[in-house]
Amino acid sequence: ITEHMIMDEMAIRRALTRIAHEILEKNKGVENCTLIGIRTRGIYLASRVAERILEIEGVPVPVGEIDITSYRDDRVKVRSVDNVQEGGKMQIQDRKVILFDDVLYTGRTVRAAMDALIDLGRPQMIQLAVLVDRGHRELPIRPDYVGKNVPTAKSEDIAVHLTEYDSKDEVIIIGQ
Ligand code: 5GP
Ligand code: MG
Repeated sequence: ITEHMIMDEMAIRRALTRIAHEILEKNKGVENCTLIGIRTRGIYLASRVAERILEIEGVPVPVGEIDITSYRDDRVKVRSVDNVQEGGKMQIQDRKVILFDDVLYTGRTVRAAMDALIDLGRPQMIQLAVLVDRGHRELPIRPDYVGKNVPTAKSEDIAVHLTEYDSKDEVIIIGQ
């Protein structure tokens, strides 16, 4: 088994700062935008980018989370994770939703998230941000914002560690 660090703390910080700028540029600000993190680590990425956007633009952007694992048993929830909308249900109707996940692989998780969001309230638009795109898509899904493109073998695995959950920031590629 081989392990190579492909992003350290600084690289992750720079990538998220760049993505914050790209979101602001593409959307001409963040008016009407909502960031939604997919289950565990996507939530921390969405929250960090919202912090950067607040620093850069001085505008708070709502952050929510979606748990795709529950979509299969029809209990999908989109919950607010910030103080902008106090623990309430996220408003996604007619908003630009920017989905966040740590790793994009086949695209099936993002597809499930999009299905759930569209069921819950028709967003105006959905965009996708990922920290790592490891390739091997099985659906016609492409991210709008990418921290790092990492061509992988299917046998390899990407480990994403974020301080909020894993005590340090790093992305490692693990091979056989
Ligand atoms: P997909 O649904 O695109 O096949 O896989 C993406 C989902 O599975 C994401 O939620 C991601 O967290 C997880 N995932 C898929 N491959 C990897 C990987 O190599 N490393 C990590 N950390 N997560 C992965
Ligand atoms: Mg995941």
